[in-house]
Amino acid sequence: MPNSTIKTIRIKRGKEKQLVRHHPWVFSGAIENIEKMPDACEQNAEDSIKSHTVRVEDSDHQFIAYGWYDEKSHIALRLLSWDEQVFPDSRWWKSMIIAAIRRRYDWFGQKGRATNMFRLIHGEADMLPGFAIDIYKHIVVIQISARVAWAVRPTAVEAVEQALRPQTIMVNVDSDLRRVEHLESSVEYYCKGILVEPPEIVHQIDCMESGLLYRLNVRSSQKTGHYCDQRENRIKVAQFAKNLKVLDLFCYTGGFTLHCLKSLCLSVDSVDSSDYALGQLEENIRLNVQNRRLPADSGNRVTLTKGDCFEVLRSIETDVYDMIIIDPPKLAPNRSHVEQAERAYKDLNRLAMLKVKKGGYIATFSCSGAINREKFALILSWAAKDAKKEVHIVSVLGQPNDHPIRLSFPESEYLKGFILQVL
Ligand code: SAH
Repeated sequence: MPNSTIKTIRIKRGKEKQLVRHHPWVFSGAIENIEKMPDACEQNAEDSIKSHTVRVEDSDHQFIAYGWYDEKSHIALRLLSWDEQVFPDSRWWKSMIIAAIRRRYDWFGQKGRATNMFRLIHGEADMLPGFAIDIYKHIVVIQISARVAWAVRPTAVEAVEQALRPQTIMVNVDSDLRRVEHLESSVEYYCKGILVEPPEIVHQIDCMESGLLYRLNVRSSQKTGHYCDQRENRIKVAQFAKNLKVLDLFCYTGGFTLHCLKSLCLSVDSVDSSDYALGQLEENIRLNVQNRRLPADSGNRVTLTKGDCFEVLRSIETDVYDMIIIDPPKLAPNRSHVEQAERAYKDLNRLAMLKVKKGGYIATFSCSGAINREKFALILSWAAKDAKKEVHIVSVLGQPNDHPIRLSFPESEYLKGFILQVL
């Protein structure tokens, strides 16, 4: 239990409704009294936890939760524990991390499994703000997107080490949120829990997802290395791809491309703007053919193009492709980008509806948390209207169980997808 030195933050009357329902975010406008505190990121984990964990009350002094307050963060207060008896000290952080890892191992932990890369911690959805933690075979990548997670990272490293004893733990800062969170760009490596120089091994790891091999370079790749969240959707989309001519837009290192090749698509043209991604995709095809995980002719059925997918969609002929996959990066990183993103999603999908063959499929995704599923479906309906097409949703796609959706935190549902058929 906390001692009497713990600071108290009161929430303005009327602003507590979401919070008592366990929504974890409090913006500064909802806070009655602002506290000055030492900089959490310049202290050790234990001191930061002591100085930044506050008791949060409503305007009648009733306890709501314990939370982490940091005025430098774009979310000033993040609620952690709603039980007055459970104070989120370093033991709490450690046990929450270990519990989340155990939940994943119930699903992915069997020997001889076909997938050895997956998400261990999915931030606020696991009640652990600012942490995205992925495992790639024997390397764990901790990606930090909030100041609280940076301050607590030594405890996170300890917990991961205790739970998994990985060969290496890499810690990096999410480049999308670095500025708003006032964090330095930084990469750290830990072996046996001790900070070390960058080890060679991190530069190349061969991992497996659903029986296909991916050569990863976690140091130079996007996010933590691989988009594990599309694991199940790759399988579902590829089930439609047999004998089809496929266009895989925003292909990255080939998640959808490899699965379509495995499903015996007629051909797949894969497009991305990143040289690194296309290089890795080429390598991944070679690796899978060599290991007999893809048919020997796979290299002849695929073309790789560096380009802007918006331009590619505009310039391709109509009625060439039976299936177009559209998996863009987060087009609305926050609410202020929503309008612009809506236009971009509409444009991409309208063009695809116009260009795909009659009766053809579009597998379309949005990973923008600021655009919910209903809105995404509405955008697709605008696209269909402008393209003057009747379109069916033939499959509804989402995020897999290692990226859970927390009911009290609707923002944790971020990946929405549909397989459409253009009639
Ligand atoms: N479908 C991929 C993940 C896509 S991530 C998979 O299954 O793994 C988004 C990709 O879009 C990144 O690889 C990024 O390099 C690429 N990208 C971003 N903007 C682009 C643009 N305008 N044109 C082409 N590629 C783009």
